[in-house]
Amino acid sequence: MTEKKPNRVGVFICHCGTNIAGVIPIEELKAYAKTLPNVVHADNYTYMCSTPGQEKIRTAIKEQNLDAVVVAACSPRLHEPTFRKASAAGGLNMFIFEMANIREQSSWIHMKEPEKATQKAKDIIRMSVARASLLEPLDTKYIPVEKSIMVIGAGVAGIQASLEIADSGITTYLIEKEPSIGGNMSRLDKTFPTLDCSQCILTPKMVDVDRHPNIKTMTYCEVEKVDGYIGNFTVTVRKKARGVKEADCNGCGDCAAVCPVTKGNEFDLGLGPRKAIYVPFPQAVPLKYTVDFNSCIKCELCVKKCGDKNAIDLNMKDELVEIKVGTIVVAAGFDLYEIEKKEEWGYGRFDNVITGMQFERFINASGPTGGKLIRPSDGQKPHNVAFVLCAGSRDQDANPYCSRVCCMYSLKHAHQIMEKMPGVVPWLFYMDIRAFGKAYEEFYYRIQDEGAKFVRGRVSYIEEDPATKNLIVHAEDTLLGTPVTLEADVVVLASAIVPKATTELLRNKLTISRSPDKFLLEAHPKLNPFSTSTDGIFLAGCCQGPKDIPDTVAQAAGAAAAAQVPINQGKVALEPIAAKVSEELCAGCGICEAQCPYKAISMVSLADGKRRANVNDAMCKGCGTCGATCPGGAIKMQHFTTPQIVAQIDAFLLGGGQ
Ligand SMILES: Cc1cc2nc3c(=O)[nH]c(=O)nc-3n(C[C@H](O)[C@H](O)[C@H](O)COP(=O)(O)OP(=O)(O)OC[C@H]3O[C@@H](n4cnc5c(N)ncnc54)[C@H](O)[C@@H]3O)c2cc1C
Ligand code: SF4
Ligand code: SF4
Repeated sequence: MTEKKPNRVGVFICHCGTNIAGVIPIEELKAYAKTLPNVVHADNYTYMCSTPGQEKIRTAIKEQNLDAVVVAACSPRLHEPTFRKASAAGGLNMFIFEMANIREQSSWIHMKEPEKATQKAKDIIRMSVARASLLEPLDTKYIPVEKSIMVIGAGVAGIQASLEIADSGITTYLIEKEPSIGGNMSRLDKTFPTLDCSQCILTPKMVDVDRHPNIKTMTYCEVEKVDGYIGNFTVTVRKKARGVKEADCNGCGDCAAVCPVTKGNEFDLGLGPRKAIYVPFPQAVPLKYTVDFNSCIKCELCVKKCGDKNAIDLNMKDELVEIKVGTIVVAAGFDLYEIEKKEEWGYGRFDNVITGMQFERFINASGPTGGKLIRPSDGQKPHNVAFVLCAGSRDQDANPYCSRVCCMYSLKHAHQIMEKMPGVVPWLFYMDIRAFGKAYEEFYYRIQDEGAKFVRGRVSYIEEDPATKNLIVHAEDTLLGTPVTLEADVVVLASAIVPKATTELLRNKLTISRSPDKFLLEAHPKLNPFSTSTDGIFLAGCCQGPKDIPDTVAQAAGAAAAAQVPINQGKVALEPIAAKVSEELCAGCGICEAQCPYKAISMVSLADGKRRANVNDAMCKGCGTCGATCPGGAIKMQHFTTPQIVAQIDAFLLGGGQ
């Protein structure tokens, strides 16, 4: 590292088309920049990020002998890497570069006050130049990468991601907390808009996963703990006691036939029975039985029936397994909103009010009624079926967002009724029909032509006739502006898609962020929808937000590709913008260790017996928490040192008004 501070600063001002230049006079800004201390060169260009714009930076560094660069343009989130590379191409250390955000922080937000916007842009540039004059060169370090990937959650997103990764030759650990892979898609009957059978398209993929030489599928397992960082994660996985030795179980089902305990099958949302030893559904992968120890009475009838196969072990205990991986794909899926919270619709109180997912199980040939929709109250065939769309979605009292699939799956349900049960009329109560995908609008027209009835309006409440158990649906037809009342045999609530409650626990273990709607947060909604705020952890499917199957599969393939990059490169570069502990000043109090949100600090004992804080560069995000909390000022935030920040503040307070 050099002791010399940069004193030949170049300032490059971007017009960003008219985004900046339409509000702020660029020539005035350039003239102002030239008056600032240490600035020896100032230039401007229509799009600084374009090839000619970057070329201007490269050339000026060489010709003007610049030793620091400031680009006044957009947010560093967008183009800091671009300009760092341009500076490096000119021969500078890429960290002696500062970005002045005069677009988001000035021309956009103050576009109606151009004079104030111009003054603020000058302030921002002046502060950036002051900081750039104190920047120090930093070195990028590289760390080796574990050549395997973990995928958490084995719905269609996790399955797709695993197959993509494994096909490229990388060892893949697929972790699923349920006894079988498949997730929610394995519950569905047909899929909109093509109406192909869900199991027919999913089961071959499930079998491919099971047989793939590079995929190690671990069902009935959950992530207990995650240590480490990109390239070197150590994941502790809890293998829950299955009560059945997978290697010895041949899936014959003799055990379940003799088990005396019956309870509701969660896979069928309680509509059908299962035994205390069970497989959730016939096409389960792996086809291995599982003992539900919460309901097992340890009568051992199953053990006797299993006989020489000796597959059942009622004393089995949970096991913890440590797995090392380079990157992680989270595909933890979704749950359905607890629609009983909307008491006005009577779910849980009225037998004949069901959810869309329960409809899927009724209408599915492998479901509890062999594919027939019945009235749960008396098992009879319904005549009028009402569908309530946006049930718990687009609702400020429940979930303000759109669940994206409910309109389409309710249209599908209407079609299935008209196809399978001639004479039964589906009534759809909707706010707007959102048919955004390929061939979705056409599907909507088709269902209208087939005879489904549409009422535009939210259902205000539902009553039950205690004698017939029929349901009286009250709504307002907002197209006609009149109240509507309909007597239905069955009401299907298209309940909102919500994140799984357990995903919050997983999120904390992975130290990744969530958005206000509680779904997992992507690094950038448009440019980086697969990554998270934690390097090396990627997102796929509905854990990131509601999605249909095509979008889920597309995102899973993208996440799989992104997760492979560090593995294929064999090493990862570490941002050197990290905390640095001074051995002399550190008193070993441990305050920083407790405060670091990324668990990047650990206390180590030195040869002389003293304790000292040690920062793991790979885990440190440079957030500055430790630097702010250290009582002895022993932690220096590289690239955000106290002198650099003070210079910036001074430049604002002392140098304004020009
Ligand atoms: C009623 C209904 C009908 C639908 N019909 C259609 C349709 O016709 N067409 C269409 O395109 N889309 C449809 N969808 C949407 C479709 O179901 C989803 O797009 C798809 O299932 C999303 O898959 P996923 O893998 O993201 O999530 P999931 O299917 O929820 O899979 C997530 C998996 O992760 C596991 N998991 C969760 N947390 C953990 C953890 N901590 N550790 C390990 N494993 C974990 C879960 O057990 C589960 O197996 C429908 C949705 C609903 C509700
Ligand atoms: S031991 Fe448990 S699982 Fe086996 S048959 Fe008895 S109740 Fe069922
Ligand atoms: S800068 Fe933030 S992430 Fe790095 S060690 Fe300090 S507190 Fe932890």
